[in-house]
Amino acid sequence: MNPEKTEKLFEEYPDLFKREPLTHNFACQDGWFALLDELGGEIRQYCDHSSENEKFEIVQIRQKNGVLRIYTRGANRVIRELINEAEEKSKSICELDGDPAFGLYGCAPNWYRYLCKSCADLHDVMTIEDFHRKKNGLTRVYKCA
Ligand SMILES: [Zn+2]
Repeated sequence: MNPEKTEKLFEEYPDLFKREPLTHNFACQDGWFALLDELGGEIRQYCDHSSENEKFEIVQIRQKNGVLRIYTRGANRVIRELINEAEEKSKSICELDGDPAFGLYGCAPNWYRYLCKSCADLHDVMTIEDFHRKKNGLTRVYKCA
């Protein structure tokens, strides 16, 4: 995520997104900024209204196999559910620009992204189905962002 958006999230949610342990910051592209911002707001709202003193830590945020993954320590069931919903939602949001995702694309031999149609066209990548179908015959390196 670009430095400006990264700073915004760190500044808006200092209790939730901490530079330590998030030493790799937000290891995904800018398109998921609004999704992370929304999640931060939801968790904060829950914690503000919870009768318990919620003690948990978000220890890593990354993209894995095209999907947002957020790793926590000590998160209760409600917080985990909010996170699971955001992770699931990431499949419907273009990771590059935040538009509705058209599908999962193969961007490099072992790298996938959910993309909208225009980002997929722009980066000349193919859907994951075509990607796997043609993988053995690939002569080009597909790369986005
Ligand atoms: Zn896009």
